[in-house]
Formats: sequence, C-alpha cells, structure tokens
Amino acid sequence: MEEKISQIQKEYLEEIQKAQSLKELDGIFLELFGKNGVVNKLSEEFPKVPKEERPKIGPLFNQIKSGLEKEIEDKREKIREAGYQKLDEEKLDFSKSTQIKPRKGRLHPVTKLEKEIVNLFTKLGFSQFSAPHIDSEEYNFELLNIPKGHPARDLWDTLYIDTHNLKATPGELLLRTHTSNAQVWIMRELKPPVRMMIIDRCFRYENLDARHEHTLDQFEIVYIDKGVSMANLQYLSEYFFKGILGADIKARLRPKYYPFVEPGAGVDGLCIFCKGKGCKVCGGMGWLELAGAGMIHPKVLENGGIDPSVYSGIAWGVGPERMAMLKYGVEDIRLFKSGDLKLYESI
Ligand SMILES: [Zn+2]
Repeated sequence: MEEKISQIQKEYLEEIQKAQSLKELDGIFLELFGKNGVVNKLSEEFPKVPKEERPKIGPLFNQIKSGLEKEIEDKREKIREAGYQKLDEEKLDFSKSTQIKPRKGRLHPVTKLEKEIVNLFTKLGFSQFSAPHIDSEEYNFELLNIPKGHPARDLWDTLYIDTHNLKATPGELLLRTHTSNAQVWIMRELKPPVRMMIIDRCFRYENLDARHEHTLDQFEIVYIDKGVSMANLQYLSEYFFKGILGADIKARLRPKYYPFVEPGAGVDGLCIFCKGKGCKVCGGMGWLELAGAGMIHPKVLENGGIDPSVYSGIAWGVGPERMAMLKYGVEDIRLFKSGDLKLYESI
C-alpha cells in the first residue's frame, strides 16, 4: 500500500509538471480527487490494510493527498501568471498603438468645393447673400419675368407648400426651385453697384437619377453696375473655370433661353478630360455645358427698382454638385447625400 501511494504520487507529480494549461490541470484534479478518482479508490482499500500498518499509512496518505492538491494549485498560479504576462506583451504594448492610423475628420467634397468658389469670388469683391428657402411664387417666378401660365414654368418642377393652416393663398408658397429667387430680394435691399453671390440649397420635384437630385445646391452671382456687358460675363466664366478646374480650361458662350435674362447664354467649359479633342464624357464635342448665365432682363431690373437705362447686370449660375462630380470623378450625384464615408475619404 505504501508503495502504491508513492507510485501514485510520483506519477501525478510528473503529470502536473508537464501540464501546460488550466484545462489540463482540471483534468488531473478530477482524475485524482473526483468521485471515482484515484484518491477515493485508495481510501476504499483502507479496510484491507493490516492494522499494524494503518498508523503509518493514514498520515502518509493525507500528506500526499494535500501535497498533490498544493502542487496543482501552485501550477495553476504559474499558468495564470504566464497568461497575464502574455496578455501584457500582446495587448498592453502601447508602442503598437502608434501604428494604427487615426481617422481624420474632413469636409464634405461639395462643401470643400463651395468654399473654394466663395473664396474665388470674394477676391473679386463679391459678398454672400441669403434668400428664403420657402419663398413666394412672386419672387421665385413672377418678378423674374415668368408670369403665371408662362410655358417657361414647365422648366422647373416645383414643390409647393401646403398652405392649409397658413395665412397664404393655395399655390402661393413654394420651395425655391433656384437661387435666382434671391435676385429681386438683392435689388430691393441694396443699391447698385451690386456684387453679390448666393450659394445655397434649392428643391425640385425631380425624377431622380445619376444626374438629378430633389435637393441640390446652386451657386449664383448677381453683378449690377453701369456698363456691365457680355464681355464681363465671358471674363467671369473663364475666371471661374480656371480657378476651379485648372488654368487651361477656356469658356465659350452659346445662346440659350432663360426667361430672366436677355440675352441668355449656356456657358461651356473646355472638356477637362480630353482638353477639347473629344471623348466619351463630352460626347466627342470637346466642350461640356457647365453653367447658365445672361444679362439680367430689363423687366427684372425694373421689378427690383433699378433703372435699366442706367444700369445693366449679369446673373451667372452653376451647380456645385455637378462641378464636384466632374472635378472628383463621381459618377452619381446621389452619392453626395448618401453618407457613404468611402466616397468622402477617397476625395
Ligand atoms: Zn472630352
């Protein structure tokens, strides 16, 4: 019996030393001290031990039993410590944290471009003007030479405000369809010479696609002074394209109809992709239609209280989102309001 106990002690001490994990130690503990474990089985053999040997075997058995328990507990402690040390090495190495690239905040690409545009025209003495987003038909259409029933109203898909609970005639209030509603506000508030710019939101009842959004930004300048002419319009167009798209981008004017200007011009920029040679984007034309402009219609000047026989003016407008699409190579205008961080981070 004595020999058997010593044999068990030797065997399990070795196993405890070899153990590499807490799980292995748990296994050894169960083998030794579990219900059907080695120790229980040994104690069952006690009655068979001759009486004279019992005083010797009993204490030896207890000593070895508590000895093995202690060995297991010590080994558990060692494994835990080694584990913590490993964790320390792996996770608390702060030097590695410097390798993680921090995410930086940045401006939305359209905001970035709009700031560039505002800076560009501030240099020419233009100031920003703010007109109502919810405005009357009068400012959005009538004062701009677009009377009720005029076919030109079909050019704008208008969102009207439900006036049910308002002191307004049905159909009188709308979400402005363009920043041009600011024109007569400007003329009525300021005396010429006027150099103002509007960069703000407009709203249209659009069929949404890659080039059309219901909520869009517009940039517009209103320049009124004595002797302002189409030559100034040509200059301002080139100034804009060169400042935003690059030094070699020329502008050309084509006749185009807008009811609140006379004459009106579609403003083309030399295609930034092929520089005039013709490519897929410009449809082989070498030019892209980028802006709309013209000399402010004499009737509109009169509506603003300005004498058209003394003063003349330019209205010139562009869609910053469309410009951002070109400048940053974005194919779908809807991405700008999608909240897709991948797009913002790539620009
Ligand atoms: Zn091209």
